[in-house]
Amino acid sequence: MKIIDIIPVTKIPLAQPQILSYFSISGLPTGALVEIPLGRRKEIGVVFDSHKAADLKMEIKKAGYELRPIAKIISGQPILTGQQIKLALWLGQYYFCSPGIFLKMMMPKKITKPKLQNPNYKFPKPKLQKLFLIPTMTAAQKSAKGHEDTIVWHSNLPKKQLEENWWRIKNGQAPTIVGTRSAVFLPFQNLKEITIEDETNPAHRSWDMFPHYHVHEVAQKLTEIFGAKLILKSGIPSVESFYFSPSLKRFAISDMLSAIVDMRAEIKDGNFSIFSRALQEAITKALAQKKQIILFINRRGAANFVLCRDCGYVSKCSNCDAPFSYHLLNGKPILLCHRCGHKDTPPDLCPKCQSYRIKTVGVGTQKVELEAKKLFPQAKISRLDSDVASTPAAQQEIIEGFIKKEIDILVTTQIIFSWLDKIKSTSGAAVAIISADTLLHLPDFHSGERTFQTIALLKNLSRLNEKFIIQTYNPKNLVINAAAKGDWQSFYQEEIEARKLLSYPPFSQIVKLTFRHQDPKRSGQEAKILAAKLTNVIARSEAPKQSRDNTTPTGSLASLSTSRSGPRPFGARDDVQISDALPAFISREKGKYVWNIIIKFQITNSKSQTKMSSEFLLRRNSLLQYVPSNWEIDVDPSDLL
Ligand SMILES: [Zn+2]
Ligand SMILES: [Zn+2]
Repeated sequence: MKIIDIIPVTKIPLAQPQILSYFSISGLPTGALVEIPLGRRKEIGVVFDSHKAADLKMEIKKAGYELRPIAKIISGQPILTGQQIKLALWLGQYYFCSPGIFLKMMMPKKITKPKLQNPNYKFPKPKLQKLFLIPTMTAAQKSAKGHEDTIVWHSNLPKKQLEENWWRIKNGQAPTIVGTRSAVFLPFQNLKEITIEDETNPAHRSWDMFPHYHVHEVAQKLTEIFGAKLILKSGIPSVESFYFSPSLKRFAISDMLSAIVDMRAEIKDGNFSIFSRALQEAITKALAQKKQIILFINRRGAANFVLCRDCGYVSKCSNCDAPFSYHLLNGKPILLCHRCGHKDTPPDLCPKCQSYRIKTVGVGTQKVELEAKKLFPQAKISRLDSDVASTPAAQQEIIEGFIKKEIDILVTTQIIFSWLDKIKSTSGAAVAIISADTLLHLPDFHSGERTFQTIALLKNLSRLNEKFIIQTYNPKNLVINAAAKGDWQSFYQEEIEARKLLSYPPFSQIVKLTFRHQDPKRSGQEAKILAAKLTNVIARSEAPKQSRDNTTPTGSLASLSTSRSGPRPFGARDDVQISDALPAFISREKGKYVWNIIIKFQITNSKSQTKMSSEFLLRRNSLLQYVPSNWEIDVDPSDLL
């Protein structure tokens, strides 16, 4: 009789152990698959470890409950690799969730091995494997094209091909794997190198489902497990990556001259257009020389919101506390909520004070396109944003049209950054940023580096004879000026010092806790209670009596046999900073009131105690265990809004 420690391939409340013990007649290897009873359900489980029942007799007696037998052996042979299981357990700890969620993403589409002609065939020693992580499917598909030994991996492949590729990687037949973020969960055999292309691209982070894992952290752990090398590549690095990664020290920003245009002066001189005189001149000149022009604005729609000039009323979505954006749909004006997609008709009179002076404010891609058409009626003008091109194929069509010079002026959002390689290979265009201010003004510690990245990337695209034009109402702003000069060093020095002072990453790890509820009173109360509770835990600086952090690799029975003393909790006040309960930047979303608590966990010594070390995670999780299960826990959030 054996006792098998099993990780269920599903989400389990974190208050319960994540590795469960079952009886089995025979032992099973690590990575084998079984079906287990879990409460009243049946679930798939991955074998973590086997023990002889006789060795654990005392523990079983002490535990005082009856072990259940496994229901069925699905595969007596290992399906998942030991490295995958190790990774899933660590990810469960890092993202504070069930490791089973990650195991699910690691499973093959079909559990049975494809049949071989000769069952005695032994695969040759697995080849060295290299993994390239690419932000988008189209780019992954493109870079694998024509390479015979290369396997592509992204979720849009046909099921059959996903299954085949999975087994080829597991059998060590594939030396090069090119994939989007889910490729980090593949069953590598002999991984030697991981390259993350376009490292700052937001598509490298899982944004559509929890946990919001980032390939950077997963890849870093993978390289540690395999003793492999990690290479980061990016046009303009993030501040955090630059701090840690020597491989990022070499990147170039074009030395193209930039012109910062003060839009306040334009208004003073009577030019109320969103196109400054300098920009109008530059476009006229470029058009005359048959050169192309890219106009960048990071907002879509015709205007950012609708405002009453008399009473200050702003049209807002009825589900969200977010201002409606003003769009033109087939030439007709509509109000559209970018959070939930709700539509409404714009009011003729202010609903609050009946004034007719209710007007649109701000600029979006549609407005830029319309104005450009008015100013340059002879030019061929196209727009690239998610309203006109929601799929990669539709985007590619517009980009190809631009490369073939079928477009004179392209009005675009940040979508263009997914197509930089293609655009760069063309003869180059004149580039202007319509409003650099819309980049800067989010109250988030990332907004400085994102502004720098955006401006510098666009500067690199620019081949304007004279200048690269940046329009702004803040011509003295430090970030805009450093980016305009391409001066990374000054920007970085300023930014890293500010982050150290305010203890932002890389000097801390941030965890964002979010609570959503349709009752405004309840959501605020709940948030305030938790903030007070967490602050209290830190003040008492007391080790928790029973740790909820069961995501460490110990089986439920195995953990009984070792008396585990809890980790040293985050105690001293300068170790951890807990914000007050704060209403979110968009305080109501999809009908629910949203509250956040932001926690900063200090990283004291960046060399010996990183945010990925188990000591750090044990201490961090000893605080996170107090967060109720109906809260979202977002580790390394993309914003604090
Ligand atoms: Zn009004
Ligand atoms: Zn809405």
